[in-house]
Amino acid sequence: MDDCLFCKIVAGEIPADIVHATERTVAFRDINAQAPTHVLVVPRDHYADAAELATADPAASAELVLTAAAVATAEGHDDYRLVFNTGAGAGQSVFHAHLHVLAGRDLTWPPG
Ligand code: 5GP
Ligand code: ZN
Repeated sequence: MDDCLFCKIVAGEIPADIVHATERTVAFRDINAQAPTHVLVVPRDHYADAAELATADPAASAELVLTAAAVATAEGHDDYRLVFNTGAGAGQSVFHAHLHVLAGRDLTWPPG
């Protein structure tokens, strides 16, 4: 996608603090961190949201979750939260599927 922020980060056209990369995923720190660890894990290929990704490429979908767990472990967290905001009404602002990894503080429930 020509005009997609996360496609540009994956391509290296926009800088990001990349913390982990696999064959199908890239993980980088959120620019507006909501917790001491706040990393976004994205598929290298463009899909609008998590369900579209899971339908088209189940292996990449699984790799996204495994990458998220590896990032949490690497940063010393046993407890962490994974979030897919899906749709503008649920807070999705970038329409390239991404899994938020949040950790390092008390994470209350329900979320805001
Ligand atoms: P969403 O709101 O779509 O679930 O999450 C998008 C996330 O991308 C937000 O948490 C936002 O802070 C982050 N973000 C937006 N622009 C950039 C950017 O240019 N670089 C990085 N690293 N994160 C970004
Ligand atoms: Zn994209």
